[in-house]
Amino acid sequence: MIELRQVSKTVESGGRPLTILHPLDLIIPDGQFLAIVGPSGSGKSTLLGLLAGLDAPTSGQILVGGTDITKLDEDGLARLRGSSIGFVFQFFHLVPSLTALENILVPMEIAGRKDAAVRGARLLEEVGLSDRGHHYPSQLSGGEQQRVAIARALANEPPLVLADEPTGNLDSQTGRHILELLLDVHRARGTTLVLVTHDAELAALADARLVLRDGRVVPGA
Ligand code: ADP
Ligand code: MG
Repeated sequence: MIELRQVSKTVESGGRPLTILHPLDLIIPDGQFLAIVGPSGSGKSTLLGLLAGLDAPTSGQILVGGTDITKLDEDGLARLRGSSIGFVFQFFHLVPSLTALENILVPMEIAGRKDAAVRGARLLEEVGLSDRGHHYPSQLSGGEQQRVAIARALANEPPLVLADEPTGNLDSQTGRHILELLLDVHRARGTTLVLVTHDAELAALADARLVLRDGRVVPGA
């Protein structure tokens, strides 16, 4: 379970404090599919970054499986991310100098997994890219790059998958396939899935929805 208690984020903007996320309480049960929706600039990516421990909140507590991640140092956060969180970005964020397979292997090598090679091949197959492992990101389509990014996010079998508009940079048909892949993984593995999306139809499929506007939760939405 993930629990946010009065989590907020204030940044400096033009020499003045700007609150981009107002104090927020949220509970995400294990295995839930939560959709985060809201207009551009409403704080969706900020919230996801806080959940991933990529960014620190200005106030509040973020409990992931009972651990307050706001109390962890950089090493502790890196370990948590490596073992427990898979992150899928809008712009894929693959390492351009590594092949598809090598990108997928990175988190497993960091974790020191002995089965990395076997598992890398299986992950490529799972995302339908068995014949593309030796290709570099620049040789892959956007949809294929996002498949690699999903395989990489799943490499260490994280119980939590965070995806920030993972189809925002893809055509609608490719986007559908990518979403189906994420949903298949969520269903088959029982992973908790937190998905930022603009797609109201998709958000309607989620177990729960969080609607943000100007850094605040829209109640009852
Ligand atoms: P969303 O993902 O919903 O589009 P973001 O979480 O990226 O929104 O951003 C929310 C608001 O906070 C936006 O207005 C954005 O410009 C602003 N913002 C985000 N990060 C910073 C920062 N480091 N400094 C100043 N403003 C920021
Ligand atoms: Mg965003």
